[in-house]
Amino acid sequence: METGVLVLNNNYEPLNICGLHRGMVLLYLGKAEVLRFSDDIVVSAGGDEFIVPSVLRLRNFVKRPTPQLKMSRKSVLARDDYTCQYCGSKSNLTLDHIFPRHRGGETTWENLVCCCLRCNNKKGPCTPQEAGMRLPRAPRKPRYVPYISFPRFISAMRRPEWREYLEGFGKGLEDRF
Ligand SMILES: [Zn+2]
Repeated sequence: METGVLVLNNNYEPLNICGLHRGMVLLYLGKAEVLRFSDDIVVSAGGDEFIVPSVLRLRNFVKRPTPQLKMSRKSVLARDDYTCQYCGSKSNLTLDHIFPRHRGGETTWENLVCCCLRCNNKKGPCTPQEAGMRLPRAPRKPRYVPYISFPRFISAMRRPEWREYLEGFGKGLEDRF
């Protein structure tokens, strides 16, 4: 059973993924409405069965400054679907500076890719071109509304029942799923 409740702002912007308890409190206090119930039924300690929410929408618009999308190792790995961008391997992953760092390559969304250790060693101090390696696409900064951390957003997009609420906010990421 998948846990967590997706919370949308009043304007349907994804705001948060919270625990079931927190979601129930929002409902109980009348601060949110249910857009979608979970397919799962939760059984309490007393044996009662509950249908529980999966997606909530806040009744009032919550104003929050748009956070900056921070680049992190985890986020780059998530963007690249935990897959080596050179050979497609999914194990022994690290990050590769496409234009090597010691030659002035920057630590940016555009210059980092998920890479397996084998390809990383093969590439060594070279650019992909010099090493005879190819990137299938140029890495970019993900475009989405970053209230939810990027790795969580990516894994939330994989839940079929949440997808329709999220995909409009992850522009350019559609081809990852
Ligand atoms: Zn590789």
